[in-house]
Amino acid sequence: MDIDSIENGIVQLIKKAETELPEDVVKSLEKAYKIEEGVARTQIDAILKNIELAKKSGRPMCQDTGIQTFFVEVGIKFPEILKLKTIIENGVKKATKEIPLRPNTMNPLTNVNHKDNTGLHLPYITWEFVEGDKVTITAFPKGGGSENMSKLGMLKPGVGIEGVKDFVVEEMVKAAGQPCPPTVVGVGIGGGADLSLKLGKKSLLRPVGVRNKDKEIARIEEELIKRINDSGIGPMGLGGKTTVLDVHVEIAHRHPASLPVGIAVQCWADRRAKMIIKSDGSWEVE
Ligand code: SF4
Repeated sequence: MDIDSIENGIVQLIKKAETELPEDVVKSLEKAYKIEEGVARTQIDAILKNIELAKKSGRPMCQDTGIQTFFVEVGIKFPEILKLKTIIENGVKKATKEIPLRPNTMNPLTNVNHKDNTGLHLPYITWEFVEGDKVTITAFPKGGGSENMSKLGMLKPGVGIEGVKDFVVEEMVKAAGQPCPPTVVGVGIGGGADLSLKLGKKSLLRPVGVRNKDKEIARIEEELIKRINDSGIGPMGLGGKTTVLDVHVEIAHRHPASLPVGIAVQCWADRRAKMIIKSDGSWEVE
């Protein structure tokens, strides 16, 4: 297996994520442009022009190229499972130089920058093992401005689903323009503290406009979209109809005494790209 080639594939994967927004996000921003007016429309117009420019020039769409985050589905019959972590890390180091990316990984005690977007526990990789012999890697660079608006609520179970919805809306109204709206909000309900946040973040991988398959959860998503957009915060917090492009909700069973709600926020730069590595080492970035 040509490991160098796969590392170069990781560079291409990161480049695609940093320079080209997925179609579903672009379409949703174009839809927002049509319904907005005044300053809100100008903001969406600037975002769309920025996206186009990034794609044409092959340059990152935002100066904050984020923390390199990956969700990896590993087929249990893939022959080089143990090399994948190093391949991703080396790909991140190469991408930092070649694209280039802003070096974003700092030691929290010394503030020393690691300079290559790796470091302790970073890049952040979530592993999932599945049937088969291929590997699917989703790159999900996560900017600091939107990450800072993440919230964990350990709610009292008595507040019920109405309390959960109120918590999400209140937190997004408090966040206002800080996460560079229009945002996509991922909400994880249940599990435990860490699982609710993880579910919220993972839900952001679902394309914009795709509702949860569970009808009741889909209805909650629609209500949250409406209530957050009715706040009038608007694009970049300057007023308007589009504060969120979408809200995704995922649930897990919970302890009787706990009702955790994890909120993960993604900015308009809802960057995602996918790479598939076959068992012979050939790869493709989608
Ligand atoms: S929140 Fe998103 S758009 Fe805003 S600066 Fe960070 S990465 Fe860029």
